[in-house]
Order: sequence, then C-alpha cells, then structure tokens
Amino acid sequence: MGRFRGHFVVLTLLAAIALVPAFPGAALLRAQGTAPKGQPQRTLDIYFIDTEGGQATLFVTPSGESMLVDTGFAGNQGMPDAAAKNSSGAPITRDADRISEVFKQAGVTVLDWMVISHYHGDHVGNAAELANRIPIRHFVDHGPYSVELQPNRSAAFLAYMAVRDKARAIVAKPGDKIPVAGLDVEVVSSAGELISTPVQGAAGAGLPNPLCREAKLKEQDPTPENFESVGIVVRYGNFRLLDLGDLTWNQEHALACPNNLLGTFDVFHTTRHGDPHSGAPQLVHAIRARVAVMNNGERKGGDPAYWQTVHDAPGLADFWQLHRSAAGGAEHNSPEQFLANVNETDHGHNLKMSVRADGSFSMTNERNGFMREYPAKAKSAVSSSR
Ligand SMILES: [Zn+2]
Repeated sequence: MGRFRGHFVVLTLLAAIALVPAFPGAALLRAQGTAPKGQPQRTLDIYFIDTEGGQATLFVTPSGESMLVDTGFAGNQGMPDAAAKNSSGAPITRDADRISEVFKQAGVTVLDWMVISHYHGDHVGNAAELANRIPIRHFVDHGPYSVELQPNRSAAFLAYMAVRDKARAIVAKPGDKIPVAGLDVEVVSSAGELISTPVQGAAGAGLPNPLCREAKLKEQDPTPENFESVGIVVRYGNFRLLDLGDLTWNQEHALACPNNLLGTFDVFHTTRHGDPHSGAPQLVHAIRARVAVMNNGERKGGDPAYWQTVHDAPGLADFWQLHRSAAGGAEHNSPEQFLANVNETDHGHNLKMSVRADGSFSMTNERNGFMREYPAKAKSAVSSSR
C-alpha cells in the first residue's frame, strides 16, 4: 500500500508538472512571483547598464526570458584603457563588454529579444557586435531605414542592417505588443507614429491632463532619427515602467495632451538621457512615477532643467542617475548614493532593479551596494486601473 501510494504521489506530481504550461492558473501563479517553499522568490530583474550616456537596459523575467533595449556605443569611445584587453584577450569593446558582463551576471546565454529604439550610435552601436557574441532570437526596431545617413552617423546602422537582413526582425507599430513571455510590453511610439488611444488597463490612462493648459511646445531639433524612437510600456503584475527612448518633447506632449494616454507608472526611464530636447513636464509630471532612472553620462544628458523637472514631479520618491552630471553641479544631481558613477574615474557601474509582481521593487547601486526598497502601492491605487 505504501509503495502504491508513493507511486501515486509521484504520478500526480508528474501530471501536475506536465500540466503547468497549459494550465492558466499555474501560469498566473508564476506571474505573481509565487516561489516554491524554500526557494527565494524570483523577480523581474532590470539592469540599467552604464554606457556613458547611451542606452542599454536588460530585462530578465522570473522564467529567464530576456529583452535588451539598445546596445550602447560601438568601439571604445576614447576610454583611457583603449589598448587594454578584456578577459578573453580580445581588444576592449567598451559597452559590448559591459553588456556581455551583465549577460553573464544574469545568466543570459541566449537573448530572446533585442529592441533597437532607433539608429543613433549610442543605441544601435553594438547590435552587430553582440550578435557575434550571443544568439539573438528576435530583433524589434522601427523599420529598415534611417533618416540620418551622414557618413559620420551611419556606421552602426549599416552594421546592424547586415545582421538584421539575416535575422527575424519585427517592425514595431504603436499599439503592438512585443510578446516577451511573462511580461506585457506595449509599443507606444515607432517610426514617428504614436498611439492615439489610451493604453488599456493602465491606471489613469485616457484621463484629461490639467497640465496641458500651461504646456509648452519646442522646436524640432536637427536630429530627426530621435523622432523615430520605439517607445515602450513594460508591465509586470502591478508594476509599470515607461521608456520612450530618445523621443522628442513634442511627441511626449502628444502622448500626454490633451489626455494622458499612458497612465501612471512606478518607474520613468528618462527620455533621451535627460537632454533638454525631451522631458516635457506635461508628461513627466502626469505619469506620477515613484522612481526615475536617468541614463546620462558625465557630460551627456543630465541637463539641469530636465533634472529639475523630474525632481519636482509629483509622487517621485527617488531619482537615480547612471552618472553624476557635470553640468548639474551641486544643485542638480541626486545625493551620491543614488548615483551609479560619481567621479570622472568612475565608469561602468550599473543600477539593478528587482521587481515583484505585487508592484514592490528594490533598486541597488552596484558601485557601493546601496539599496532602496519600494513597497507595493496601496490596493485602491492598483484596483482603479482595472
Ligand atoms: Zn541617445
């Protein structure tokens, strides 16, 4: 009898395991971050990788699915260690090496999704280099063309096109979902087009935005490729993050006025590195993010007026920066523990966020281990989104 029962238990377990993928309840449990007893709760991990004022943001879901948004600058960008070799003996490719290091740290051996927001060198820079280093299952971008093909700007784009031609590439359209397993990733801008209806199921999305009355517009700057940026809304359980790439001020305005189409967020990844051609307060203040992360360099982005706009945003608890901004001085930088890189000699320290499906998350400064916890929002704030 004992043996029979033992077999029965094993078979029942096997049957339960076999059923997991097809059983919506089980998928839901996993999505809510419920871990078996004795194992640490698994989280959505987001790595804000320092590329000295470019962008590279890696998302790794609890089930191990990975999405990299942008790839930093190509080459070595004149870093003092240009002649050095990395651990495998190859010449240093600064940002590609940093991204590879984070892949290792996160256990990513195959990249499921590479999203290229647009084709400026600080975003598409290492797309081809990374494709040489790791299998990449899908590319997502705004389409196989660039509006800026000046000889000094086209190299990274052309290198990427050579890889893209042989890969599975998806052209993002506003309103599309990027089907990253375990995440809800919605495209809200691409190729100069924007969503025109509110993001579904998002708290506050579609409501009139009183900030539009005082809102100002700006003249289009002479770098039209930014206008093409793929912008995304990432949702994991009750957690929401906004990343608009290098989208321009007037496009931010259109997403926020007269109605806030995007709703409210936990995290705002600052548009365009904190450059004053973006950062329209009618959007930055309407989205009520609890935490902002700025992908600036020491001397790229990190504009004082932009910093002030974010700093003054209603509901903001903390403002993290990848670098201390030289232009920001004493008045327009966050306290040192919120800066991943503080001095000119600091390079390559990242910020790591770990998100639970209840909407709570932590952020760690990998330079010094400083960590902040952000609790799940009160129930009423969450349920109003449904
Ligand atoms: Zn950029």
